[in-house]
Amino acid sequence: MRTLYDESLYINTPVQSYWERTAGGPDGASTPLKGSVDVDVAVIGGGYTGLSTALHLARDHHIDTCVLESGHMGWGASGRNGGFGCIPASKLGIEALVSRYGLDETQRFFAAQLDGLQLIRDLCNGEGIDCDLVGDGNLEVAHRPSRLRDLVRYADELTRHFGIPTRVLHRAEFGELGFECAEQCGGIHMAAGFGLHPLKFARGLADSARRHGAVLYPHSEVESWQRQGNVHVLTTRDGRVKAERVVLATNGYLREGLHDGFDRRLLPAISNIVTTRPLSREELAAHRWSTSNPICNTRNLLFYFRMLPDNSFLFGARGDTTGTARDGERMKAWMTRRLGEVFPHWRRVPISHYWRGLVCVTRKMTPSIGRDIDDPTVYYAFGYHANGVNTAPWAGKQIAEMISRNDDGADRIPVVCRGLPREFPLAGLRLWYLRAAYQYYKLIDALP
Ligand SMILES: Cc1cc2nc3c(=O)[nH]c(=O)nc-3n(C[C@H](O)[C@H](O)[C@H](O)COP(=O)(O)OP(=O)(O)OC[C@H]3O[C@@H](n4cnc5c(N)ncnc54)[C@H](O)[C@@H]3O)c2cc1C
Repeated sequence: MRTLYDESLYINTPVQSYWERTAGGPDGASTPLKGSVDVDVAVIGGGYTGLSTALHLARDHHIDTCVLESGHMGWGASGRNGGFGCIPASKLGIEALVSRYGLDETQRFFAAQLDGLQLIRDLCNGEGIDCDLVGDGNLEVAHRPSRLRDLVRYADELTRHFGIPTRVLHRAEFGELGFECAEQCGGIHMAAGFGLHPLKFARGLADSARRHGAVLYPHSEVESWQRQGNVHVLTTRDGRVKAERVVLATNGYLREGLHDGFDRRLLPAISNIVTTRPLSREELAAHRWSTSNPICNTRNLLFYFRMLPDNSFLFGARGDTTGTARDGERMKAWMTRRLGEVFPHWRRVPISHYWRGLVCVTRKMTPSIGRDIDDPTVYYAFGYHANGVNTAPWAGKQIAEMISRNDDGADRIPVVCRGLPREFPLAGLRLWYLRAAYQYYKLIDALP
């Protein structure tokens, strides 16, 4: 099997993240697969998509399910993201969405995205998952005065077309309920979303799935996937699963060669995060910081940041395009420098953690959820475009529903999210496409 990035990005030991340090000890409740088992449904990948699929299959449909995960449950992007419960999971703007899918389907898409946020709250309440939910929405900040115009239009569209109350905040107002710095030129508050502790949420999903009867196998990478008559045979280092149906829930961590039907369709991209040590009251006051809401700025190569419950500051950005340890060190230095440039009063605050992981982009630029046309016993959900916190658990619920009803979810899943993306042409050049896109966005972001 092949990886797009340096192999070191796929080594399944826990990353040295703030989340791993604060999640409350290792999750040792399950053991790797040993020997041979038969199940109705085998899920490959133990992130939000896979765990939510398993939880809903076991709890709501009483279907015999197992999850096979290369690392610990939540090892991938789900246990290491920024914890932004935000929308939408698309790289297309509203105008492009409407022109491609029409207003009705775009509205269905936004309604589904809001359902995704609500599902997290319901899961936390109903399953007793404590994952430090904070905030009353999301903030988007104009990094230059000229970018506020676009946000004003966006706020109007969100409110008018999708019923999401969104307020425009001019610089002084934003300073009152957010923060101040040179790259704060006003912004918007979208009354949807929150922040959470991503690894606690992943572990909560895993515990619930287990409690309802799903069997979870950590440290059990699927090394081969074969069809033998009516069953799928998934082989791991020490075991084998025979399943009637398989769900591919590997998002950006898919190794090509596992299943030819999914090769060449994904473009994983690296996202980086640094966190600081907890800031003092004086340090917070220096930037008049007063919000627990997640924030992103208007750069195409955006910065995303939030103040964590212990006042550690989380600052995230896109990554390099090789995944080597050397480029990781380079990115850490760049992130540290950029954090200090955007928030100069925190320039000398020590960085406590740096880590990175893979998000998943596709040519469709919207999520891909469905059932394989050539083999209707294979299901998939991926391509959340760095917005999987709300979308992946929702996608897992949809997959469970599709399996239990034996349909393709056409009446429940908006067209925007349905079906496989097309393959990338000359797929071997995908990282070069990404490099070219980054150079282009860098130029746009530098415009006044
Ligand atoms: C640094 C970073 C910051 C992010 N910030 C945000 C954010 O703030 N808000 C937001 O909405 N989204 C964010 N995202 C994206 C979000 O985390 C993902 O979209 C989401 O977690 C995807 O969930 P998933 O379960 O589909 O995939 P993942 O959580 O990536 O899980 C896939 C799993 O599949 C496993 N796997 C792969 N191949 C195999 C195999 N052959 N056998 C067994 N297991 C296998 C991997 O080990 C991995 O654990 C961020 C991502 C990163 C990396």
